[in-house]
Amino acid sequence: MGLTLSALLARHGIASLVIEADEGYCTGSRAICISRRSQEIMGWAGADGPLVNTGLPWTGGRSYWRDTEVLHFQMPSELNQRFAPMVNIQQYYIEQFAHEALQRAPELAQVQWSSRVVGVRDKPDEEGVEVDIQTPTGRQTIRAGWVVACDGGRSTVREQLGLQLEGTQYEGRYVIVDVVQKTRRPIERLAWFDPPSNPGSTILMHRQPNDVWRIDYQIRDDEDPAEAVKPENVLPRVRSHLAMIGENEPWEPLWISIYNAKCLTLPRYRYGRVFFAGDAAHLVPIFGVRGLNSGLDDAGNLAWKLARVIEGSAPDELLDSYSTERVHATRENIAYGAKSTEFMAPPNFAFKLMREATLRLAVSDAKVRSLINPRQSSPIAYVGSPLNVLQQGQWANGLAEPGLPAPEALLQGPHGNFHLTQRFGKDFICLVFSDGALPTAVKELATHGIAVLDIPPQADSLGQARQRYGLPDAQAAGLVLVRPDGYVMGRWRGLEPRALLDAFNKKGFTE
Ligand SMILES: Cc1cc2nc3c(=O)[nH]c(=O)nc-3n(C[C@H](O)[C@H](O)[C@H](O)COP(=O)(O)OP(=O)(O)OC[C@H]3O[C@@H](n4cnc5c(N)ncnc54)[C@H](O)[C@@H]3O)c2cc1C
Repeated sequence: MGLTLSALLARHGIASLVIEADEGYCTGSRAICISRRSQEIMGWAGADGPLVNTGLPWTGGRSYWRDTEVLHFQMPSELNQRFAPMVNIQQYYIEQFAHEALQRAPELAQVQWSSRVVGVRDKPDEEGVEVDIQTPTGRQTIRAGWVVACDGGRSTVREQLGLQLEGTQYEGRYVIVDVVQKTRRPIERLAWFDPPSNPGSTILMHRQPNDVWRIDYQIRDDEDPAEAVKPENVLPRVRSHLAMIGENEPWEPLWISIYNAKCLTLPRYRYGRVFFAGDAAHLVPIFGVRGLNSGLDDAGNLAWKLARVIEGSAPDELLDSYSTERVHATRENIAYGAKSTEFMAPPNFAFKLMREATLRLAVSDAKVRSLINPRQSSPIAYVGSPLNVLQQGQWANGLAEPGLPAPEALLQGPHGNFHLTQRFGKDFICLVFSDGALPTAVKELATHGIAVLDIPPQADSLGQARQRYGLPDAQAAGLVLVRPDGYVMGRWRGLEPRALLDAFNKKGFTE
């Protein structure tokens, strides 16, 4: 996600250098499910095109207990949507597309490969950070205004600052196997509990591009992890499962590794001029796919804040809100991830028993089935964020309250249809729900650094924007201020922008 952050900073006109220990993109099987929100963020970085073209979109999944289907879930999706709720794609593609995007701004974004950060010293008196790097040709020290540690779960920067992750590590282990096999099966998340192919185990399957199946299965508590990943132990289980589900095309293994779930976070993500993001800041279980997705959200949250503080249009405290908001998001992600993990890899006999009971009941009782739902990643509301402005006036619903991700809507412009989220990612934007006549004072918001998007009834012929932003009545007027990362900051009834501007300035934002 460091590459994505660098591409996002470039979009904001901020120069950065990525120091990467490896000589290229990651190898093996890591993140594979990329959420709609992550696709939007990749879009801000200029990398959504290849992501959508390469990835496999999906909207739902099925769970089986033994050989009976006990859940068929669908994630929210609609006709003409901008992005699918989820796409499956190997993580190295995400890194490649982010890298290609940042290469389009070589004057702002650079990557130094095969270079390992070995020392970090925050120098508050000198308003900078010194970073020691081990390169193939020797050691060098560079100075940066700010450092964002995106150096993964074993973060050197974390270690250098003497910081430790806090939380829980689960015992249950999953073997991860990628195999190449052609299939005609629809793209869905597939889960089996106690399947006849591997009694007692839990198996997850996802299709990936290039005819790759990602198969995850839980090993028994008494199995030695080192033995469990040996091909002679893995391949018979895969063979048996593919045969059970009727996938009979020839196949071969591509990658085998082992994983166990962790719910760990730093207590803060800002330490002076050093920030933590992605796995360096937090480790969340893969169930619910919040790992890379939450890292990309960190990048989306931090990029605009760093840019504004560096260019002098926001106070330094704005950067503290990165920590407040993203630590809150991690705690929510951990709560969801822990629930999913306790179902997917029950940590003790009591959880195992409850799962068994739930699965048995789900065969005949539809009400129980929601308990099996994998709770897939979705953007977290920044409840209680210091950036939220108390909303003013009456609104028909709470879908666009301050602190929530700004809802999507399909709109009509002079050049054709467009999605509202296409306008997010760079500037503050004021959504104006008017009857078509835009007051001069609202137009002048642009001179204060706030872009204006007029949404008269004719631009919202489907009524999606008015409905989702709480103004279903076409006569009702209102202003909604959306942050550069697509979160609602505040909303005001009527078309008088004075209170909006006051709130904007009170938070320390200037043009
Ligand atoms: C098996 C598995 C399956 C997963 N599935 C999903 C999923 O479906 N969806 C999802 O959202 N997430 C998933 N994740 C989690 C996801 O892979 C991680 O959350 C994500 O890679 C985190 O990105 P990152 O950039 O923070 O860290 P990393 O991807 O670990 O990147 C850190 C980078 O820092 C470099 N580095 C490390 N130390 C140094 C140093 N000292 N100096 C310079 N460079 C350094 C490394 O070489 C690496 O390139 C999965 C993870 C695993 C292991």
